[in-house]
Formats: sequence, C-alpha cells, structure tokens
Amino acid sequence: MRPTGIHLFGLRYWSAALSADVGRSDRRLLVKYDPRDLARIFVRRPSGNFVEARYADVTLPSITLHEALTARRTLLAKGRREVDTRAIVRTAMAQRELVDAATRKTARLSPVADESSWIGRHAAFYSVPPLVMLQLACRRPPRCAADLHLSSDQEIRLAKMFATEPAAVRRMTFANVAQPSRRFIATRPTQVCTSCSPGHTEPEPILRSQLLGWRITCPLCGDPSGMPAVANSPFRQYRTAALRDEKLLDDEVERGIGTWTSPAEIARLLLMRRIPRPIPRESDLWRFRVLGAIIPDLDRVVGAQQENLPTPAKPILPLHMRPALLAGIAIVERAGPEMLRMLRGHMIGDNWVRFTDAAENIIARARR
Ligand SMILES: [Zn+2]
Repeated sequence: MRPTGIHLFGLRYWSAALSADVGRSDRRLLVKYDPRDLARIFVRRPSGNFVEARYADVTLPSITLHEALTARRTLLAKGRREVDTRAIVRTAMAQRELVDAATRKTARLSPVADESSWIGRHAAFYSVPPLVMLQLACRRPPRCAADLHLSSDQEIRLAKMFATEPAAVRRMTFANVAQPSRRFIATRPTQVCTSCSPGHTEPEPILRSQLLGWRITCPLCGDPSGMPAVANSPFRQYRTAALRDEKLLDDEVERGIGTWTSPAEIARLLLMRRIPRPIPRESDLWRFRVLGAIIPDLDRVVGAQQENLPTPAKPILPLHMRPALLAGIAIVERAGPEMLRMLRGHMIGDNWVRFTDAAENIIARARR
C-alpha cells in the first residue's frame, strides 16, 4: 500500500474503507483476487477483515490477470518506463479486440505439412504478439520451441479458434518431448530440405522438422539429396552409422523410446573436451572432443576449418558436422557400456570426474 492506493500487477486500486489505513506506512497487505476479473480485489485490513477495492479509475473495464501481464510486458518491451493502470487496461483491450477480430475473420491461413509456426504465422498476420494469440499465461517468453507448454484447455481453445482439432494443435508443438531431449530442439530452423521445401509465403512457415537438431535427412520426403551439406560432408563415409543413430534419436526425442541408453545423453558426453596424448600446445586444446577418440578425422577437420563445435549443453552441430556426431553415438550405442569406461582414459582433471560421473550414471541406469 502506498499513499496513492494499492498497487498490484501495475494496476492501482482504491477503497474508501482503506483511506484510514493509507499513509500509516508503506507496507505489504494480504490481497485476494479472481484472475478472471481484476477490476476488483479484496484487501485485508489491519483489523483482519477483508474489504473490496476497485480500480482507482472506476470507468475502466475489467481485464483478466493474463491480459494484464501480457499488456504490461508489451508496454515494457516498447520501452515505456511508466506503466499505469490506464495504459495497461487500454493495451489489454486493444489486444483483446485484435484476437477477437482474428477469430471472427474467416481468413485462416492454411497450415503447410509438418508446420510448427502456424499459430505464430497468424499472430504476425494479425500483428499481435504470438503469446497473446496463444493466450498463454506463461510469465517469460519460451526459450525454445519445446518450452511451449499447452494445457489441454488451451489446446481446445486454440483448436476452436482456428477451426481444427486439438490433436492437430498438439502436433505442431514439442510438448511431448521430455526435458533432457529438449536441448536437441533448435529455436530457429537449422536445415531446409531443397527437395520439398514449401513455396515462399509471407510470413514464411517454419516446419517442425527444421527445428530437429539431429536430422541429416528430411523426414517429409526422405530425399537424400535434399540436404547438400550432408551429401558433401567430410564425414559422408559414416553415413550408414549416422542414419542408424538419426533413427535412434528420432525414437528417443519424438517418441520416448530408448535403447539400453539415451542417445541424447551420449551426445553430451561425446562433446566434452578431451586431452589427447601427447598433450598438444595450449593454443590447440580447444579442438579436441571425446568424439574425436572415436571418429579419427574429427580433430583434423575441426582444426582445418577452425570451427569450434558447440558445447555439450547445446549439442546442435552444423549440418555438415552432424554425421560425425551421429556416427559416434551409434558406435557407442552398439559397443555398450564398456566403451564409455574406455573413453574415460581420454580425460584428465575435472573433466575426468565429470565424465566418469555422467558415464557411471548412464551405466547404472542401463542395468536397471
Ligand atoms: Zn524433403
């Protein structure tokens, strides 16, 4: 409570019953509210009983908590430093009208096969933030496509809004991907199939398969020439093993089906730094990864291209390097736990400890 009233979610409230308490101190009060109707809140007085407080400006219409948070975020993102009740409510009403108009319009963009950006494309079409379009109550924008969690309620609402089935909405998201596998889902398209990519439309659709950070073939048409970077990869001789692991990762990430181990976790281990013997010059140390102990050409190619591989936390490699990682995973997967113990010999110091911990964890889980 401040001398000007009660401030909550950037909205200002006032109640005549509270005027006696105002100014006593700048203190925190217990407040109850209905997230569907922020026009009024209930405030506990120092005496213990609750009184109703309304917007300080009673002429403003009611908005929901979700609308208030989204509007506030939009205003702050536009660089507004002072965000008051009037600005928040007006922005929320404007966004509500845009969404209403969008749902009333018969003009719906038809989804292309395997599209993941359908809702986002509508948002751009109607010039509203995608989160408003999604009516999602998430406080932070999602970090990656996989973080978009839709409750079944939201799925139903979206399906209704776009005149489709809830299952069709779910298929466009990565909601089914388990947390550890999500590091393999990219935020932006990492590959385009030249054989079957959809024609150019504005805004351009993003396919679900373009965000799958392990793919070396197109899951839509399967044409091996669709990704020239893979066909011309310096690791194209590992194609058979790589294709086998592409399938393993597909099963694990998309369908939750595992083998004795998790290919996604093996990928992390293989991207850790190793120390080769004889120990190289300090300036060369950056290029050596565990993977190089299995795929002998790796260190040379990485060194020649001066191309630092991504960290274990984000194991999405550039397309031409992917066959090496996939083949490495396939080799470990086929060789079994003993191979992980053998690879430990390439590590020293902290990395040895971290590698050993992670590898023993994987092996212990395999036994269960
Ligand atoms: Zn294709």
